[in-house]
Amino acid sequence: MASTRVLLSSALLVAVAGLGGYRLGAGQSSAELEARLAELEARVAKADEARGKAQAKAEKAQQDAKVAKAKLDEAKPAAPSYTCNICKETGQFRRFAGRKGVVCPTCKSKERHRLLMHWIANASPLATEELDVLHFSPEDAEKDFLRKFENLHYVTADYLHKEELRLDLTALDLPDASWDVLIVYHILEHIVEDQRAMAEMFRVLRPGGMAILQVPIEVGREEIYEDASIVDPKERRKAFGQKDHVRRYSASGFQVRLEQAGFEVEAVDHIAELGPEEVAKHRMAGAWRTRQDERIWLAKKPEDAPGRKGKVKAKTEAGSAKAP
Ligand SMILES: [Zn+2]
Repeated sequence: MASTRVLLSSALLVAVAGLGGYRLGAGQSSAELEARLAELEARVAKADEARGKAQAKAEKAQQDAKVAKAKLDEAKPAAPSYTCNICKETGQFRRFAGRKGVVCPTCKSKERHRLLMHWIANASPLATEELDVLHFSPEDAEKDFLRKFENLHYVTADYLHKEELRLDLTALDLPDASWDVLIVYHILEHIVEDQRAMAEMFRVLRPGGMAILQVPIEVGREEIYEDASIVDPKERRKAFGQKDHVRRYSASGFQVRLEQAGFEVEAVDHIAELGPEEVAKHRMAGAWRTRQDERIWLAKKPEDAPGRKGKVKAKTEAGSAKAP
């Protein structure tokens, strides 16, 4: 530092001497030059001192900021912690599709899966009765959960992905009246011929059996909106809200189509049955930006429904699944 100062002083001296018209030599006494040097050295010392003070100030400010940030973090409310009723883990659920606190980090379940599994385990005939259950496109968390029910003969199916059975919902390769329960959750909105799928579900259910259903339904929508000419994924997203959806259902439109297929329809409001605390604890609903119908739809095949022969033919019109 000392040598730096000397160098700096000399440099300053030369610079100032140059600017101020100082000339080493003629006209400048050595006493004058010494005085000038002393003055400049004093300035450098002062600047050094100021720099030291500024550095100390900066360090102090840094320390203060650290303390303030720690205090702020402490004061901030922690992200809410939920308990998954499927895998029983408690923790912070992850964001999904713009909704906060949706996905269980352990079993990957979302709101609707936790709601459905809660209803099945606590309020449905599946909790106690011996039933043949066919589950279409199940989530891993649901499969793991439902396979633990010893009273259920539980089989999984999918059209695209690998499950126990590969089945097309619009042409089920299954005998008439062969299942007690079908679980078809968030699938019909992907199927152009949804009425044909409903007729097929009706056919393979035993009298007294039921399909457990849900589709996206905006509360307040009056009619089904569909347009088979819209096939481009981007256009479908615009029209139906998702690139692989083919319609927007209304609650009444959905019910009417199921009734036309021969079903008796009941929409179970399990959220209302549970109450807000239980629903919030397991984060079963309520994260949607638009109000969604989150009821569990039961399409029941009447006990006295006559059997019908053969599979439903392609392009079945609504209502023709009803036995004559
Ligand atoms: Zn979970």
